[in-house]
Amino acid sequence: MTTNAPLSKSAMAREARKRGERFFQAPCVRHGEQPHYASTRACSVCQADRNAPKNSAAAERYRDDTEYREHVRDTGNKARRKRRENPDYREAERAYEREREANRKTVDPAYVRHLRAKAVNGGAVLRMRKGKEARPDTAMPSKETLRECYEFALRAPEGCELDHGCPLRGVHPVTGKDTVCGLHVPYNLEPMTKRSNTIKRHFFDPENPLEFQKPYNSFPGGQFHGDHAEDEFMRYTTPTTLHIMTMAEFKEAIVEGGNADMHEFLLRLADDAPEL
Ligand SMILES: [Zn+2]
Repeated sequence: MTTNAPLSKSAMAREARKRGERFFQAPCVRHGEQPHYASTRACSVCQADRNAPKNSAAAERYRDDTEYREHVRDTGNKARRKRRENPDYREAERAYEREREANRKTVDPAYVRHLRAKAVNGGAVLRMRKGKEARPDTAMPSKETLRECYEFALRAPEGCELDHGCPLRGVHPVTGKDTVCGLHVPYNLEPMTKRSNTIKRHFFDPENPLEFQKPYNSFPGGQFHGDHAEDEFMRYTTPTTLHIMTMAEFKEAIVEGGNADMHEFLLRLADDAPEL
């Protein structure tokens, strides 16, 4: 047998068992590259498919059959009692769980991404909840928002840090005064390199925001506006450093410009009005 011939699944399973692993990675005819059980050589997705009818039948029975439900609960209680009474058993079980977790992290990249996305939500909620400035329930993100953040974080580029463009509690870099309470929403989540995140920290200067910090709320693309403004769209599609308006410039361009237009319009209206 040549050394670089591909191993059969049985051989791969045997090798995995020898290493003490529960899974090995192999191609499945139906599902492509997937984790396989070292114990049975079965593709984990195929196995889940095979188990699905049995599992859903059991769930239905648990719901409808009182006697069966009592039996299942009884079994669980017995196991818990056994665990409580025997510290060795408890420790062994924990060690098994730890190992299983570590193993899953090595064979299942989707699981690692899931954990990372979950941590983005968990960290934010924790920070909003703690300390004197803890936000009231009404100011906490809704379940739907958390779900959206999770989905966003799940698809973030590999190797970047995901943090809030406008910090959850933003502080002026010079005066140290509170300047902003950023929202935990997908459009405030910014994938950034570790270095950018280190520069940003928890600072927010409203007059001189960093490129990815959306300064004001009142125009499209502002911090609380879900859609991308045109200039933001450019920011993501052209490699230029984009100018973000300060409040003074915004007033001059939009508010004062609008007032001037309205003034002109009223004058024209007065001119066109029929003589009484
Ligand atoms: Zn399969």
